[in-house]
Amino acid sequence: MTDYILAIDQGTTSSRAIIFDKAGSIVSTGQLEHEQIFPQAGWVEHDPKEIWDNTREVIGQALSKANLTRHDIRAVGITNQRETAVVWDKTTGVPVYNAIVWQDTRTQPIVDRLATDGGVERFKKKVGLPLATYFSGTKIVWILENVEGARAKADAGDLLFGTTDSWVLWNLTGGVDGGVHATDVTNASRTLFMDLETLQWDDEILAIFDVPRSMLPSIRSSSEVYGTAHTSSLLREVPIAGILGDQQAATFGQAAFDQGEAKNTYGTGNFLIFNTGTEIVHSKNGLLTTLGYKLGDDAPHYALEGSIAVTGALVQWMRDNLGMISSASEIEALAKTVDDNGGAYFVPAFSGLFAPYWRSDARGALVGLTRFVNRGHIARAALEATAFQTREVIDAVNADSGVPLTEIKVDGGMITNNLLMQFQADILGVPVVRPVVAETTALGAAYAAGLAVGFWSGLDELRTNWQEDSRWTPQMNEAERSRQLRNWKKAVTKTFGWVD
Ligand code: ADP
Repeated sequence: MTDYILAIDQGTTSSRAIIFDKAGSIVSTGQLEHEQIFPQAGWVEHDPKEIWDNTREVIGQALSKANLTRHDIRAVGITNQRETAVVWDKTTGVPVYNAIVWQDTRTQPIVDRLATDGGVERFKKKVGLPLATYFSGTKIVWILENVEGARAKADAGDLLFGTTDSWVLWNLTGGVDGGVHATDVTNASRTLFMDLETLQWDDEILAIFDVPRSMLPSIRSSSEVYGTAHTSSLLREVPIAGILGDQQAATFGQAAFDQGEAKNTYGTGNFLIFNTGTEIVHSKNGLLTTLGYKLGDDAPHYALEGSIAVTGALVQWMRDNLGMISSASEIEALAKTVDDNGGAYFVPAFSGLFAPYWRSDARGALVGLTRFVNRGHIARAALEATAFQTREVIDAVNADSGVPLTEIKVDGGMITNNLLMQFQADILGVPVVRPVVAETTALGAAYAAGLAVGFWSGLDELRTNWQEDSRWTPQMNEAERSRQLRNWKKAVTKTFGWVD
């Protein structure tokens, strides 16, 4: 019986394997966290070996929990943290350096250097992105320039680059023994190297970055058979048939397939994706232009994206660096000890500010403090920061599209927080809606894989799988909403100019 699809979700904090049935319901899950490595201020790394070991193990966990074997799995889909860069030696399979994570800001000098000729928007028309430390291209340059021997090996054609989708795919399909080196259009659209029109690597940009094309994976659609799992894998011979970057996967899992549909994911950071259909739309309001998905030979779907670097990561920081809470979910009870933020605003510009500001010189600020402010107010200000940042991104989407969103579909680890979800609806002034299957990221990757092998008949079948679980409606009056937003925007201005 081949009645299930297995999705690998290689996320920022953990790797998961989730098995789905035909209704899109979760059958079983395996999950392992990996170490967050902070070698110095602004640097964030993961160990690629640990990620691959964990991936293998969570596949085993998911299969054994459901009492299934590879014979029950029709196809595998992969979704991943997007801009995190791994560079490895193709002759040994060993990474030449840790994975440099999307939040890492060490490449600022590289960004500044590249921006001297034409500014940070010099490639934006072609690739949809401003020059920023966030994207994987700058991280490859850092590795080539700073890891001993890397440049020579790269020039000799011995090094491969991949985001973690490619790293997992290459290893799962055999690694040094014939591993497939590929990525999908959504991940490729986050490098700074892919031309949005041709969906190919751009030689001119590669020359400017001085990155050899031989390092780069081939760019494929999001839904096709890339290869089959190696004989050494528990999934031996099962086709790997879907790849979507995590945010695009969540959009797909939310069944936001058509132009005008959107979702917002609340995880380590927040990511709003707005489907613009087959049209490439360039933002006038600080959003990125990116790939939404591409199914086999069909025309690609594009999207506008509002990326926020730090949302749930602020909750982690309060847990790990301040010890104010012992688990992320405790923040809600702490925030509920008070009625409001007590005048405190917390702007978590730990990695600079992403959308809609794109200020790499920004750093975090906690403002509006008086002797009245206590731990509860700070907890509330931390949660509200997520909602305010989201409001600013949605304002940008509405301005770009000209048609305001009338409700917002949400997913991700933070949406179990009712206080946050209510405040989000209040500050947006539109309802916030949560689906029954909140694991939309893994579900989207499963959908992409299942479509490629005929497990699902098409998008209409997937649409019927989407069901509403709960809904928060705005309770705040307009005067209070405006006052809060005014204060927030003032607080944001206090974060600028902290890096010289
Ligand atoms: P990712 O996919 O980015 O690894 P997840 O979607 O798993 O992230 O979400 C994890 C994030 O959500 C963490 O940053 C954590 O701090 C935050 N989080 C988890 N539960 C809660 C909660 N109840 N309230 C607020 N934040 C939470």
